[in-house]
Amino acid sequence: MTETLRVIEPATEQLIEEVPSGGPEAIDAAVDAARRAFPAWRAVAPADRARLLRRIADLVDEHREELARLEARNAGKPIADARGEMGMVADVFRYYAGAPERPNGETIPVAGGQAFTVREPLGVVGLITPWNFPLAIAAWKMGPALAAGNTLVLKPAELTPLTALRFERLALEAGLPPGVVNVVAGPGETAGARLVEHPGVAKIAFTGSTAVGTTIAARAAATLKRVTLELGGKSANVVFADADVEAAAAAAPAAVFGNAGQDCCARSRILVERPVLGDFLAALEPAVAAVRVGDPLDEATQMGPLISAAHRERVASYVGDDAPVAIRGRAPDGPGFWFAPAVLCPVDPDDRAAREEIFGPVACVIPFDGEAEAVALANDTTYGLSGSIWTRDGARALRVARAIDTGVLSINSNTSVRVSTPFGGVKRSGYGRELGPRALEAYSEVKSIYYATGAA
Ligand code: NAD
Repeated sequence: MTETLRVIEPATEQLIEEVPSGGPEAIDAAVDAARRAFPAWRAVAPADRARLLRRIADLVDEHREELARLEARNAGKPIADARGEMGMVADVFRYYAGAPERPNGETIPVAGGQAFTVREPLGVVGLITPWNFPLAIAAWKMGPALAAGNTLVLKPAELTPLTALRFERLALEAGLPPGVVNVVAGPGETAGARLVEHPGVAKIAFTGSTAVGTTIAARAAATLKRVTLELGGKSANVVFADADVEAAAAAAPAAVFGNAGQDCCARSRILVERPVLGDFLAALEPAVAAVRVGDPLDEATQMGPLISAAHRERVASYVGDDAPVAIRGRAPDGPGFWFAPAVLCPVDPDDRAAREEIFGPVACVIPFDGEAEAVALANDTTYGLSGSIWTRDGARALRVARAIDTGVLSINSNTSVRVSTPFGGVKRSGYGRELGPRALEAYSEVKSIYYATGAA
């Protein structure tokens, strides 16, 4: 009997679809297909590869509404957000479509000949992705991987495989040869683990939890695979007393309740300088009350349900009777994994809620006194992914930005991700960078060639 994944709609708890669930054999077959497709794909002329990537972008645009609705239903995210993510998927392919035709090496003066470098593709790359931004995060990996000339096997998260499976068909429709893009939906412990261990896979690009990422790094070492890891976060949103406090408070809810808090970049620790704590909370309260939680397919919705019942139970454990709940939003009743946004204040920096990645719509407000304490608190975490600084003092903004140990940081803004700028973490948030020009380096290797000319 064929194993299946029952794909559930978090907003209704109803079955959307059952899809085949692949195990190690399905991964082996996909890797074989990718290995067979590799020699021809790496040899595709640069302009032709660029054209195919642009064609993928065009097809994603043409199917934007269909893909956005599928993602909104499967991941429980607001349709407006899902449309934005599909726009980014197309943008990523367009951005990396420029890569095959750009210079990719250097010449180096040496005696007796000519030395130069070229970048070569790695071969078959394995991509393992989480459920929170299913197709967007897959695209961050697929775009540079394909542009650099690799073939790939993508294993999406068990809970949200639908857009990746749809994308696999769109890639064929765009004209990519069979075997270049292979998607295997299946469990992490079997299908994912096989991809990590497979001797025919050159690299694993993983986005997910720190616990699984740590296991993957250890297991990939057995075959000396390259690994890039985009892992969890517990980022700080630092509000100084000289900031535009109203603006900081207005932006704070989206920064932690966006995607129902299931965002690795969530600024879930809001550090507020003590003299403006009262003003900040007063401005935050109506902003939290205004967050519209509801049907992901409703255009006005700003926050959908959590991904699953089990995840909701975990998130709820941080908002128990003893939690200092200062502000609570509203959420629908009835079927669906709903959870009302919550702001805890004041939170002791040593509390579990302040230290662990909740991955839900729960913000911890922690008061501080002065710049040195702000930096110490911001760095008092095992993670280092994103963060924000709100101040009108430009010199302070730059001082603090340099002092916070994190991969990505915004000043007077809560945004983290752009197609053209590097994204990734430090500490337990992982290593390697996605997006931007450097991502290509993670999907290729430098070859150094020396041509003896007999010259002195
Ligand atoms: P997860 O680690 O449970 O799963 C991620 C993927 O790994 C899934 O596809 C899963 O099937 C697979 N997997 C699980 N066990 C595996 C194994 N032993 N071998 C190989 N693959 C395995 O993460 P999740 O719950 O899907 O996602 C939430 C986590 O992802 C959060 O911690 C979040 O912070 C993180 N995340 C990070 C980023 C980033 O860019 N830094 C972005 C989004 C999410």
